[in-house]
Amino acid sequence: MGLLSLGTPLHWNDAKKYADHVRSHGIDQFLSVYRKQRSRQKQCLLWGDEVEYVVVKLDKENHTTKLSLRAFDILASLQKTEQDYLEGKTTQPPEALWRPEYGRFMIEGTPGEPYGATFRDLMTVEASMKKRRQLAIEAMLPDEIPVTLVNYPRLGCPNELEIDSEPHGKACQSMFVPDEVINPHARFPTLTANIRRRRGAKVEINMPIFHDKNTPRPFIDPTIPYDREVFDHDKEAKNGAAKPDHIYMDAMAFGMGCCCLQITFQACNIDEARRLYDHLAPVAPIMLALTGASPIYRGYLADVDARWNVIASAVDDRTPEERGLKPLENDRFVINKSRYDSIDTYISNDAMYKEKYNDLDLVYDKDIYEKLRKNDVDDLLARHMAHLFIRDPLVIFEELLDQDDENSMDHFENLQSTNWQTVRFKPPPPNSDIGWRVEFRSMEVQLTDFENAAFSVFIVLLTRVILSFGLNLYIPITKVDENMATAHKRGSVLNDKFYFRKNVFTNNKPGANSNSHIEEEDEYELMTMNEIINGKDQGFPGFVPLIHSYLSSTNIDIETRCELTRYLSLISKRASGELMTGATYLRKLVTSHPQYKQDSVVSPEITYDLINTVDRIARGELKAPELLGDFNA
Ligand code: GLU
Ligand code: MG
Repeated sequence: MGLLSLGTPLHWNDAKKYADHVRSHGIDQFLSVYRKQRSRQKQCLLWGDEVEYVVVKLDKENHTTKLSLRAFDILASLQKTEQDYLEGKTTQPPEALWRPEYGRFMIEGTPGEPYGATFRDLMTVEASMKKRRQLAIEAMLPDEIPVTLVNYPRLGCPNELEIDSEPHGKACQSMFVPDEVINPHARFPTLTANIRRRRGAKVEINMPIFHDKNTPRPFIDPTIPYDREVFDHDKEAKNGAAKPDHIYMDAMAFGMGCCCLQITFQACNIDEARRLYDHLAPVAPIMLALTGASPIYRGYLADVDARWNVIASAVDDRTPEERGLKPLENDRFVINKSRYDSIDTYISNDAMYKEKYNDLDLVYDKDIYEKLRKNDVDDLLARHMAHLFIRDPLVIFEELLDQDDENSMDHFENLQSTNWQTVRFKPPPPNSDIGWRVEFRSMEVQLTDFENAAFSVFIVLLTRVILSFGLNLYIPITKVDENMATAHKRGSVLNDKFYFRKNVFTNNKPGANSNSHIEEEDEYELMTMNEIINGKDQGFPGFVPLIHSYLSSTNIDIETRCELTRYLSLISKRASGELMTGATYLRKLVTSHPQYKQDSVVSPEITYDLINTVDRIARGELKAPELLGDFNA
């Protein structure tokens, strides 16, 4: 989730006075790194994954679940080996690194050290993930489990927390969740409260309800305490924030309490990082749809399969002026998206890039842009940074206001790490050995380590294909945005189509633009997920076949190739519909449950069975052929 710093966090009223200070030093810090590192070359590909987990208390005697709020104690125990290693108490490097996340019920695990560039490295991913799950289980109480569910299905329903308290929290002021669900580190409650203060209202999350046979039409949620009068903001629910036919949520925890699977790559140099960033951007919505595994929110089945928009709304700090609801008086920009959203601008300078792909009217800070340009940052990169810097820093620690801009990136990271976009371009940290990196952020966490490994390996191989075959995946950025919307739809993997480039092997010579048949090569069309992943007759060969031809062009050994094929087959079968996506599978667990009343309600009993089932699948105790085929046989 990003930077944790220590100190006294400022209330929004004070923090906003320092916004320009943080932005201006943040840019100086970026420039310092840019000057020192722009020509830096890294020989080897390094990469890593991040898996986020929800901690659940599973009472097998009484068939109940609660959300555990003990992530902090669990983390303390998990981090011990890393701590001992850093303090020189052991020479044994940690097998996994553990970090806190937004929810007090979440933990995040990464491999002990980055994976390397070889195919053999790809074969260690699943083992690393299994090891992490095992370590997490060992660090928990006997009745606690780490689940790789995107979200706890009944978060925000009564009596779902291990230690229950009334939802009267000052930070989020939610009608559904208390502040106790938030990670207690000062950063998180402050982030929560400052988003609300800056916005001037609570966040408003409305996900369409899945209308089943017995779901009332219109659906007006009877569980919302419309008449509550604990906080001033309480009246928002009845004044339109809670929409009919939607599942209404009013707190950051509903979004940032979701779990994902992220992959970060170190590129050889800044240009390669920029190129990967651009070509992965159109892949992000495709992978959001294919990994979609979150069909349930606040105890109801939703008509969406994926989390992204929940988080986008959950951290939307834009003021009414910025949202275009009032004329601009106090704010500087009308901003089209939340801080957590798909990217707004491509950044690569390579010959495949054409101006017409950046077809969003980009909002950016002109002064910051000028400053970057004067310091020799090219147009596209300057625009990207000046766009990220239209936001205000939300959490400022008083003690950290003054920084050494040559040796710190804190102010830069303040803005960078709260621009949660589908892909992130990451400059090297100062004084470190790390190179320019790209983070792929759209994927939803999968129920099992096998699936998480498969999707991680797939993305890594895809980057190899993009770079070695020189794939051109550009489509206009507004089409990427349309794909993001499509990716949320229930069953989009089988029922919808996504914009995708017709010809990915374009002639990449500069000036190719002027030639009309090259223009044609630029075209995109709507394709099914199956066509994008498995290929289309007389058209795009498909990601999986492309990866197979790449593998055939290398001298990979048979055993490794077979293992990789298992992973690729999973992806391929998910796209063709031979296997279910996580969302479809979870939906089916609900709708086929004997106690489901066809009214969209996911009851505590159903939740228990669902969580128990997915935990057993993750431990290999239960086969789930519709989800995994015979891969986990
Ligand atoms: N949990 C967030 C998600 O599901 C991401 C938080 C992070 O950036 O680590 O996208
Ligand atoms: Mg995280």
